Amino acid sequence: MNNRFWLRNVLLEDGFNENNEGVKTTITNEYNILVENGKIIKIQKEKIQEYEDEVINVGGLLALPSFTDNHIHLDKGHFGGQWKACTPFKGVADRIIEEEGFLEKFLPETTYRAEELLKLITTNGVTHARVHCNVDPVIGLKNLEKVKEALENFKDKITYELVAFPQHGLLRSNSTNLMKDAMRWGANVVGGLDPATIDGKIEKSLETMMDMAVEFNSDVDIHIHDGGNLGVYTINRLLDLTEEARWQGRVNVSHGFCMGNGPEEEVRDLIDRLASLNVSVASTCPIDAPTPPIPLLYERGVKTYIVNDNINDHWSPFGTGDLVQKASRMAEKFFWIDEYSLTRALGFITNGRTPLDEKGERVWPKIGEEANIVFIDASCSAEVIARRKPRHAVMFKGNLVSGKLN
Ligand SMILES: [Zn+2]
Repeated sequence: MNNRFWLRNVLLEDGFNENNEGVKTTITNEYNILVENGKIIKIQKEKIQEYEDEVINVGGLLALPSFTDNHIHLDKGHFGGQWKACTPFKGVADRIIEEEGFLEKFLPETTYRAEELLKLITTNGVTHARVHCNVDPVIGLKNLEKVKEALENFKDKITYELVAFPQHGLLRSNSTNLMKDAMRWGANVVGGLDPATIDGKIEKSLETMMDMAVEFNSDVDIHIHDGGNLGVYTINRLLDLTEEARWQGRVNVSHGFCMGNGPEEEVRDLIDRLASLNVSVASTCPIDAPTPPIPLLYERGVKTYIVNDNINDHWSPFGTGDLVQKASRMAEKFFWIDEYSLTRALGFITNGRTPLDEKGERVWPKIGEEANIVFIDASCSAEVIARRKPRHAVMFKGNLVSGKLN
């Protein structure tokens, strides 16, 4: 493939067909797209005149923005190795004790297995990932090193952020200095985990995490599994500290199960606070645990990601690595069954990018953007979500990284 080429007959979403009941169908048209040096430089319906350029016939496949997985673990799974189911779940603390026993044994396989997971998610359309990686007294920075090696081997297919994740508890396992070493070593984001049930000291745990983020001028991404009032209280304290540090737009809450089972009115207030402080949420949209009310988060303007998290590891044997399936599950769970809602579901796996805005104006693709495109044999994004259509090909910065185009 040259560094300048036409993509011919690309199906793009162009608007909504509406009546007084709302959006009935999505309008699409075929376009020709010129890509140069990895960027989209022309989008036109007119025939291609510039025959000196390479022309790739896309044959009417639908183009969608590529996917962002904003929360995934690559460092301690079974995927890529022998099949292994989980032991029955007792609690987060027991899982931590369990992994303390095998982390070192996994090391020789860690890079290979991380690469197998990367192969899986990039084939499914992911071109950017936020990767959480253990930093704990058992494994030190070794998992970070192995995972970074895998990510660097995939740098032609995916961009990434690395989260230093104190899986064994920032205070519980006395990992503050280790976490600082990880940040100095090159991790991009300060992670965290249940300040109440794992660390047993909500204030000290949150303050230590936020201080570290300020010291290293980094974003924060905290796993909060704690449900109900406890979780709501914890997130509210996190938001207080976010406000004090002026860390608006730099904090993400992962899971936030409490928003799925906390007192309704307090959850509503919490969601409004998340929106006003520009704090995002990452959810796997679980069916075996309380899920944050994703439609309400969306309606109130909280940036929300649907994510893979873990794929076949000692926490869960499940996971296909396909974000379309996850977004589809979200739509199904919250009864987003109409055309318009299904088009919105896509935005949770594309870092908010959808081909059409709320009014049906085409806002993707744009001239000057990187050619990060997923090609699918489908009529529109609503169909992709509902029917969970497979990916035909994936393009990253103008290079085909999976599948084939003619
Ligand atoms: Zn996680």
